Amino acid sequence: MDVRSIIQTKRDGGELSEEQIRAFMSAYVKGEIEDYHAAALVACIFTRGMVDRELVTWAHAMLHSGTTLSFPEIPQKKADKHSTGGVGDKVSIPLAPAVAACGLAVPMISGRGLGHTGGTLDKLESIPGFNVRLSESEIHRAIDRTGVAFGAQTETLVPADRLLYRLRDACGLVESIPLIASSIMSKKLAEGIDALVLDVKFGSGAFLPEPERGRQLADAMIGLAKGMGVRCSAFQTAMDRPLGRACGHTLEIEESIDCLKGGGPADLRELVLLQGGEMLRLTGNATALDDGKKKIAAALDSGRALGVFELILREQGGDPKILDDRSRLPHAPDVDPWKAEADGMLAFTSVRAIGEAIAVLGGGRLKITDTIDPAVGLVWRRSAGDTVKRGDVLCEIHHRAGRGLAECRARLAAGTRIGAPQPVTPLVLAHVAG
Ligand code: URA
Repeated sequence: MDVRSIIQTKRDGGELSEEQIRAFMSAYVKGEIEDYHAAALVACIFTRGMVDRELVTWAHAMLHSGTTLSFPEIPQKKADKHSTGGVGDKVSIPLAPAVAACGLAVPMISGRGLGHTGGTLDKLESIPGFNVRLSESEIHRAIDRTGVAFGAQTETLVPADRLLYRLRDACGLVESIPLIASSIMSKKLAEGIDALVLDVKFGSGAFLPEPERGRQLADAMIGLAKGMGVRCSAFQTAMDRPLGRACGHTLEIEESIDCLKGGGPADLRELVLLQGGEMLRLTGNATALDDGKKKIAAALDSGRALGVFELILREQGGDPKILDDRSRLPHAPDVDPWKAEADGMLAFTSVRAIGEAIAVLGGGRLKITDTIDPAVGLVWRRSAGDTVKRGDVLCEIHHRAGRGLAECRARLAAGTRIGAPQPVTPLVLAHVAG
């Protein structure tokens, strides 16, 4: 294989052949390609893009760069959801047990937080004892016993993505639609699922803030899923404000438990119903989206979803007593209010800055190897669109002895505005049906 000629093809705006893509991917995961050659090719893809045929081959080559999961022994339909992420997005945690309570199996391979965004695995690990490092056989056993496995990417699952994502992150080459679509879908399609619901965020806390680019990403991902026989649809939902009230690992687990008990903030519950309902529709476990939403609501309100979550905690080593005794979760020793400095309507101008406000308290990581403090974070007392008065508490800051507190306040001020009334964007902008 001549890697220089592959790079030159893309550099000059040509299309890569199937043979070139497969040869590159196979040699890259074997360590036979230098990172500078891979970075050059990725940079050319970043600027030149890929036609549909190339994207399908590229994603397929990533997917088959390692092992994939399959569950012939599990009779239920298998489904998952994926969110492009943001601040306060804990939907997966109540959603997976709720859909399992409605008859689906959920092999959920999630990621960790990076930069201003949080990750499902880090949130679950704030539960004492919870183990997300499941082997393949432990994933099978967890699904068999509970309907859900909350796992992490293993050494052998889609190794091409681990290499390429690290390279893209290091070289500032993340925000490319074909590269994001192939990265996300190679991992999700390796789960051996029948259906997938995507939550593509828009707004200042999203990877791709503009709704138009989010729509292009959704279309690219749905196209890849369909091409591989997986039913898939997407919602474009708001990340121009934090989701729910709690932002930070332990605090989000507490809010997830509220949702699993039939309560919690309305926006969180709405996304759980919507995405769970769609998972049931796509797998034929509901006749229509509304029917699916009703089934998910009943699972939350009856305690069945909470019952599944308790089983998951027992299966994955988490302390089940946290469901009734929150003092067993790690809490920050100090809580200070952050107050409005003027009268007016609360708006979020940068959700990225809000995520950074949590990171400076110790609740985020800049590099994937950084450790995080699960206890710190924010609990919002007011939401986007609320009219507030000077001195009102906007949020509580949960911190550890003042670490990062001044910088946190500065980021909160940078990410919010109190001013004249403005329309609040809808929580759900579009349903991109597959
Ligand atoms: N998440 C992923 O898994 N991959 C990307 O490229 C971007 C976000």
